[in-house]
Amino acid sequence: MNEEKIGSIASALIVGGGIGGMATAISLAQRGVAVDLIDLDPEWRVYGAGITITGPTLRAYKHLGLVDKIKAQGAITTGASRVRLFNGQILRELVEPELEEGLPATGGIMRPVLHRIMQERVRELEIPVRLGLTVSELVTVDGGVDVTFSDGTSGRYDLVIGADSVFSGVRKLAFPHMGEPVETGQGCWRISIKKPPEQDMGEFYFGSDNPCGITICGEDAVYLFLLTPHVHREKFMDDEELFTTLKELLGPFGGNAGWIRDNMTRADWINYRPLAAAIQPRPLVKRSGRPAGRRRSRHHPAPRVRRGHGGGERHRAGRGTGEECHGRGSARRLRRAPLRSLQGRDRFQRRYWSTPA
Ligand SMILES: Cc1cc2nc3c(=O)[nH]c(=O)nc-3n(C[C@H](O)[C@H](O)[C@H](O)COP(=O)(O)OP(=O)(O)OC[C@H]3O[C@@H](n4cnc5c(N)ncnc54)[C@H](O)[C@@H]3O)c2cc1C
Repeated sequence: MNEEKIGSIASALIVGGGIGGMATAISLAQRGVAVDLIDLDPEWRVYGAGITITGPTLRAYKHLGLVDKIKAQGAITTGASRVRLFNGQILRELVEPELEEGLPATGGIMRPVLHRIMQERVRELEIPVRLGLTVSELVTVDGGVDVTFSDGTSGRYDLVIGADSVFSGVRKLAFPHMGEPVETGQGCWRISIKKPPEQDMGEFYFGSDNPCGITICGEDAVYLFLLTPHVHREKFMDDEELFTTLKELLGPFGGNAGWIRDNMTRADWINYRPLAAAIQPRPLVKRSGRPAGRRRSRHHPAPRVRRGHGGGERHRAGRGTGEECHGRGSARRLRRAPLRSLQGRDRFQRRYWSTPA
């Protein structure tokens, strides 16, 4: 665990209590920063998918003091992944290297389990958490950032970190010149289901139009993902359409993917999500010549775009903060954020969505 104290930042506000926000909060609190964490969701939930955890992410979790719990409650291995043709033919096994002695190479865990492990650590560290809340105004002042919260309360922090997803409201507030996320043209189907009897390691299936993979997430749990071209649609799919379409898409697959197709039920958690990216045009640096809204550090030369849970978290744990933050620097008044982008999209009730209007 990285215990090196941070001397230059006394207080930080983390906006967003997902994997990234909690990792940031834990890392900063462990290093002596007084952290407040807020999340828009009054119940601080996460959806029911599994998640693949790679070696670098496990190394980050080691810094956060969580790797043993993840090993105990997930399905973490030092082993290999299997590559198959879509029809099930085994092509080869890929041995995944250990990044550090004693550190497992890869694995998976159910997101709600991972969320709970991280929430417990946040509570252990006595990090104040406020839910059903976001930021409505950020004003950079000489001593830090004056924050107005959506319930009308306010606070001053040395640092404000936006960990509020790719559709970040903090980005809109603090970096109004930055671009919105755009669809990549690809969509991801996921199903969480009991483990196929023959499944003994993670698998990838190639050779069809739609690549697919299966990650073991617990003793009797896996999730399967399938990547397809995303076709824009005006309406959400209902549960029945999700079920029948995924079953159909899995039609040509053999091996354990074929087993999942044949054994999936309407009670299994199924989700479809178009993938989006917020790649920012140049310049990221404002006219003042300083990074937009934050001080430069050796590890974080400029605000950056997220690269998935693993990439973002590696930076957050032990190395730094997050990709969007608004710190000391530009003495600029920022406009009010419209919160509608996230509030309008209920990702917990709907198991899938189309492009936000
Ligand atoms: C289909 C799919 C599959 C993926 N699979 C993997 C995988 O297998 N392995 C992997 O490493 N990564 C995977 N990822 C990427 C990974 O899920 C993300 O990188 C990770 O969830 C990002 O974490 P985050 O905390 O930054 O954001 P999120 O997990 O999106 O959390 C954001 C949090 O902020 C809160 N929030 C939102 N708006 C506001 C606001 N305005 N104010 C306050 N709070 C707010 C939300 O309620 C939420 O709690 C996948 C992503 C997708 C889309």
